[in-house]
Amino acid sequence: MSGTAQIGVTGLAVMGRNLARNFARNGFTVAVHNRTAAKTRALVEEFGSEGTFVPAESAEEFVAALERPRRLVIMVKAGDPTDAVIQEFAPLLEEGDVIIDGGNAHFADTRRREKELRERGIHFVGTGISGGEEGALHGPSIMPGGSAESYASLGPMFEKIAAKAPDGTPCVTHVGPDGAGHFVKMVHNGIEYADMQLIAEAYHLLRAVAGYSPAQIAETFRTWNTGRLDSYLIEITAEVLAHTDAATAKPFVDVVADQAEQKGTGRWTVQIALDLGVPVSGIAEAVFARSLSGHAPLREASRSLPGPAARPLGEDDAGRFADQVEQALYASKIVSYTQGFHQIQAGGDAYDWGIDLGSVAAIWRAGCIIRAAFLDRIREAYDAQHDLPSLLSDKQFAEEIGAAQDDWREVISAAARHGVPTPGFSAALAYYDALRAERLPAALTQAQRDFFGAHTYRRTDREGSFHTLWGGDR
Ligand code: NAP
Repeated sequence: MSGTAQIGVTGLAVMGRNLARNFARNGFTVAVHNRTAAKTRALVEEFGSEGTFVPAESAEEFVAALERPRRLVIMVKAGDPTDAVIQEFAPLLEEGDVIIDGGNAHFADTRRREKELRERGIHFVGTGISGGEEGALHGPSIMPGGSAESYASLGPMFEKIAAKAPDGTPCVTHVGPDGAGHFVKMVHNGIEYADMQLIAEAYHLLRAVAGYSPAQIAETFRTWNTGRLDSYLIEITAEVLAHTDAATAKPFVDVVADQAEQKGTGRWTVQIALDLGVPVSGIAEAVFARSLSGHAPLREASRSLPGPAARPLGEDDAGRFADQVEQALYASKIVSYTQGFHQIQAGGDAYDWGIDLGSVAAIWRAGCIIRAAFLDRIREAYDAQHDLPSLLSDKQFAEEIGAAQDDWREVISAAARHGVPTPGFSAALAYYDALRAERLPAALTQAQRDFFGAHTYRRTDREGSFHTLWGGDR
């Protein structure tokens, strides 16, 4: 017996509930299920009028409510709960049915699950969904992996519920097979960490060096948001900085404990980048900056270490400095995306996913946390040259970063003189300078390796591998 629901959602916490509503609002009949049935009843009671929901209390009822081939979205806590839910539902499914995991799974888990289910004839589509609960309801950016066959039936449904880019294109594409979708979502989150860190550094510099108040910085960010930095994260930063704490009447940012937490996707991005040998120094610095902020006793013990006293610039210089910070932020952002896209390219090559980088940039233009006008530029760069070795090889980006570099260096010098930590800006500039360098000191590193470990070296003037018989009594 086949049911009437075109899609089912199990796991009705904030994300699942809003995703189910989004499907229903777009005219799909949606079967809904949650381990704790009260949440299923609450959804239908509160939002039943938005569309057609088929509530199910048991796994059997849920599966029976779905039309065939069944399409079943899992939106539960990532990790063991996802495996538990798969084990509960898979025995009730038939060949050709599709399980979609919309949680933040590690792509290696997705690869394992996809393989196991494929052997049973079930499609498993690990799908990155970005945009938080608002995105899930009004249109997220959707990054599905899995088989091309499953995408043929899921794609049109995803296209309906996805965010739409300014040109009207839905922010969804078949990223690639098995874990490709979750991999790309992971790097999306890594880039998000880097973006947030760079914005935080810009704020810190405007506060400590330019001497601006949070309200003035909010204004500065609003202005930046009308230009090339136009993005969701800059927009919300301005709102946060303009916000006053109701209890104390102080700037809200001053009453929040200065310890940033993390759930793990930034850390995964860096761990996987290390495995792939891809330098994502901007993302790594962003992850480390959050860890450092959380080491309260270490910071307390270090507070009396010497450094420059706070000495904000005068009003005249502050405005000029703010402009330079905008240049530094933009240049560092180009580097972060260069690194993130390099990681996607390397992951795509390592797992043979055939990821189209331009399409990835295109589906991040709306719906997700890093949505920005800038992503359209990245899409254009990859569309113009599919095998672009790096974003920095794009003529326009190269010109822009070249035009920003003097101010970028000035800002980092000022940060060092004023004792303001800028790990993101500094790592980005170091990456840029390392790429442009005619010769890197890696020559010396390799010579050292040959000295103590006979690791050999290649020469600049001859082919082959060489080892020097280093003298001395070793
Ligand atoms: P969540 O807090 O991560 O998970 C709660 C849901 O998981 C509830 O429906 C809960 O059921 C269910 N659950 C937990 N353990 C279970 C188990 N062993 N068996 C069956 N169900 C189980 O919810 P969320 O914030 O809505 O996120 C859902 C997924 O989306 C997660 O993977 C998350 O990482 C991902 N995600 C979240 C966001 C976001 O902004 N929150 C954004 C993108 C992606 P009960 O009600 O019975 O406890």
